[in-house]
Amino acid sequence: MMYDWIVIGAGIAGATLGYELIKAGFSVLLIDKNNYVESGTNSINKINYTATELSYGGLAFWSGTNQLTNQLCQESRIYYQNISSLFKEQFHLEIEYRELDLLLTIPSQTNPELIAKNYTHFLTPPQLLNIPQACELEPLLNPYSISGALTVKHGHIHPQKATIALIKAFIQAGGELQIDQVTKIAPHQVTTPTQNYITTNMAIAAGGFTRYILQQSHIPLKIYFTHAEILQTPPVDIQLHTLIMPANLQRFNLERQSTLTDTLWLEPGNEPFPAILDPGAVQFCDRTIRIGQISRTLTDINADINLTESEQRLRQHIGEILPALAKLPATCQRCLVAFSRDNLPVVGNIPGQEGIYVFSGFSNPLVYIPPLAERFSHWVKGNEDEIINQLLPQRLV
Ligand SMILES: Cc1cc2nc3c(=O)[nH]c(=O)nc-3n(C[C@H](O)[C@H](O)[C@H](O)COP(=O)(O)OP(=O)(O)OC[C@H]3O[C@@H](n4cnc5c(N)ncnc54)[C@H](O)[C@@H]3O)c2cc1C
Repeated sequence: MMYDWIVIGAGIAGATLGYELIKAGFSVLLIDKNNYVESGTNSINKINYTATELSYGGLAFWSGTNQLTNQLCQESRIYYQNISSLFKEQFHLEIEYRELDLLLTIPSQTNPELIAKNYTHFLTPPQLLNIPQACELEPLLNPYSISGALTVKHGHIHPQKATIALIKAFIQAGGELQIDQVTKIAPHQVTTPTQNYITTNMAIAAGGFTRYILQQSHIPLKIYFTHAEILQTPPVDIQLHTLIMPANLQRFNLERQSTLTDTLWLEPGNEPFPAILDPGAVQFCDRTIRIGQISRTLTDINADINLTESEQRLRQHIGEILPALAKLPATCQRCLVAFSRDNLPVVGNIPGQEGIYVFSGFSNPLVYIPPLAERFSHWVKGNEDEIINQLLPQRLV
């Protein structure tokens, strides 16, 4: 069978892209090494997770900073509203779309007004709160750990439930799902240990594994990945009222600094920039809590990470901000997260590689993925798209 499109990876990026391509009338095969439709969200004892499985699920519709990102934020809000009611009606599946208060903590001994200035250019600038106001919004907050906080309304979904619903909708619309591990790609050909799939086009939407798949196939592209570690609790009695993250995310600096020398990423065993920890937490509708997050730029996708040490660090850091969370029962879990050096998604065809496209490297991924998947599926039909034109891989060569 010759497909119009093969999409490699069925995390939230690949699942959304597959769904949009099938809606646009293409024949599509979605390939993933994991079967999410069968395993569902009950996968607590795995060793390696995907970014979608460990994500906080926050939708920063407020965070556009220019015409391009404002447009994507607005389209994304409408998309989630639509699929939330559509999937409820069609499959009785909840993606748990809701609105939460985001709380961006500002550490004690930091000037809150100065930090707030960094947020004035956003589509909806977060509001500055003093310490009592922040603690009123989030009673679990340690008032001595902050000098203030910023708050804004933040969308929220259960990313894995949304992904499973998207895959089901994709299959119902005529898409094919294959559980297989892609080892190599070449123009019009996707290879796994047991099969050679033939296709007109392919899109690599394999998140943090995108670079690895390309590298194995001798296709250079400056797309990168971090190793992320979090604590995942079972359902707990404690109630978090907000999604908490630091106002000064260190991850952005890590991404910038670690990509200054691309040659370090050409072989395993390097760490271009030291690990960082951005303490944060969110509680899902089933009362489980995710506590994060350590990010590391280890260039080996299978790098050894001591999860016992990571767990201690995460407990210590979250304990300073949210003391009640420090001793909760939890397991430490890890995954890979893709990123690009300019903080923008990498969407489009790879120069010189006929029919090979990338759909990865999203910053603010959960917001950008749906509008870009929709736009991508129209663009590959020949419709000009001024947003996709700005995200093409050729800018990274
Ligand atoms: C702790 C944490 C919190 C986050 N919080 C937020 C947030 O609040 N808001 C937000 O917008 N983003 C957040 N993110 C980021 C966001 O969740 C991810 O970037 C997004 O889920 C990535 O989706 P993806 O489909 O690109 O990648 P993934 O979910 O990693 O999916 C990649 C898929 O490719 C498959 N695959 C890989 N290699 C192969 C192969 N060789 N063959 C076949 N299949 C393969 C994998 O099995 C996987 O299913 C967070 C991430 C983390 C880690």
